[in-house]
Amino acid sequence: MKLSERQLELIDNQIKRIIASDSYYGKKYRDLGITGISSQEDFEKLPFSGKEDLRDAYPLGIMVAPEEEIVRIHSSSGTTGTPVIIPYTAKDVDDWAVMFARCYETAGITNKDRIQITPGYGLWTAGIGFQNGCEKLGAMCVPMGPGNTDKQLKMMEDLGTTVITATSSYALMLGEEVEKRNLRQKLRLKKGVIGSERWGEKMRKSIQDKLGIELYDIYGLTEIYGPGIGINCSQSESMHYWDDYIYIEIIDPATGETVEDGQEGEIVITTLVKEGAPLIRFRTHDLSRIIPEKCPCGREYPRIDIIKGRSDDMFKVRGVNMFPSQVEDILKDVDGATSEYTVTIAHDDDINKDVMLLTVEGEGRVSFEQMSNEIRNLFKSRIGMTPKVIIVPPGSLPRSEKKTKRVTDYRISQL
Ligand code: ZN
Repeated sequence: MKLSERQLELIDNQIKRIIASDSYYGKKYRDLGITGISSQEDFEKLPFSGKEDLRDAYPLGIMVAPEEEIVRIHSSSGTTGTPVIIPYTAKDVDDWAVMFARCYETAGITNKDRIQITPGYGLWTAGIGFQNGCEKLGAMCVPMGPGNTDKQLKMMEDLGTTVITATSSYALMLGEEVEKRNLRQKLRLKKGVIGSERWGEKMRKSIQDKLGIELYDIYGLTEIYGPGIGINCSQSESMHYWDDYIYIEIIDPATGETVEDGQEGEIVITTLVKEGAPLIRFRTHDLSRIIPEKCPCGREYPRIDIIKGRSDDMFKVRGVNMFPSQVEDILKDVDGATSEYTVTIAHDDDINKDVMLLTVEGEGRVSFEQMSNEIRNLFKSRIGMTPKVIIVPPGSLPRSEKKTKRVTDYRISQL
């Protein structure tokens, strides 16, 4: 999708502000002789930015607005190395809330809804983003934060919560509890807004069935405001994004070349109006594609497909590259398999080969032997390698309130 005149003008303005500042990117752009852009070609010549830059600029090197205008920081949860700090001005905080409220509206949520917020508060952008959007919309916020399932369910019942916001892992866990305690008829839940991780179709269906709700996928990342820059509508699974605040291009992650609309690749985001920490061509590592067709809902906002995975989620066993989403696609077609699985990879010294162990929860309806045969056959035909498969009873694999870790690799990394 090409830049509109307006977007081009806004990005040129962002670049001029960055260059005029004493920030990390200001220095970088000055060194590269960048002065601004006036065409799509100019834009596509600009260097990418990435998490490594933000780490190098730690703690506040990417700040472009003057100190006195910064009202808040957030930090991404980075499990390894230096965290990333993003400074926000009052306008950034408000813009984010406006986008988030638009997400709720797109999901058909109104100021008469009661929204229970289970993602975490604090440095993370999740909880507070869901809350600010809810207040901007004028709905009633139930700011629970994560954990304490007993209390979550009590508030849900007593307050008549109509919308639950959660990670997919926690939504599944709540669904399982609601089912176990037979609470479904006592709840008034209608919708779920689920964010912050990729999730398969089977998991979606499981949450939908257990809670009896419509689900919406919300997109975002801390570096670019947080969750709330896009969401799907009731007519489509793919997500509308707010092209008056961000510009999205899809690139080939290997070459960095922009791909045609409709082609899969890595999402790269440019902020159009961010003041505290504008980012130009930020590589998200999220894999998706632009949907070129107009949405049946009639909204003009462009769309990206459901996130297929992350370019850095890929794992390689015996020369075959795989993504967790491919495992999920296979499990979706296996009768009796739940959405829950783990992949463990190790090197077997005796045979000098890598081995992949796939552990899958079975519902218990279909024999475990039949299931594992089916999974092995599907792997062989679709992916070209056969893992060792173990089926375990429902509820055996760990549930998490945050993101579920699916793949564990015990091989010594070969640098
Ligand atoms: Zn739509």
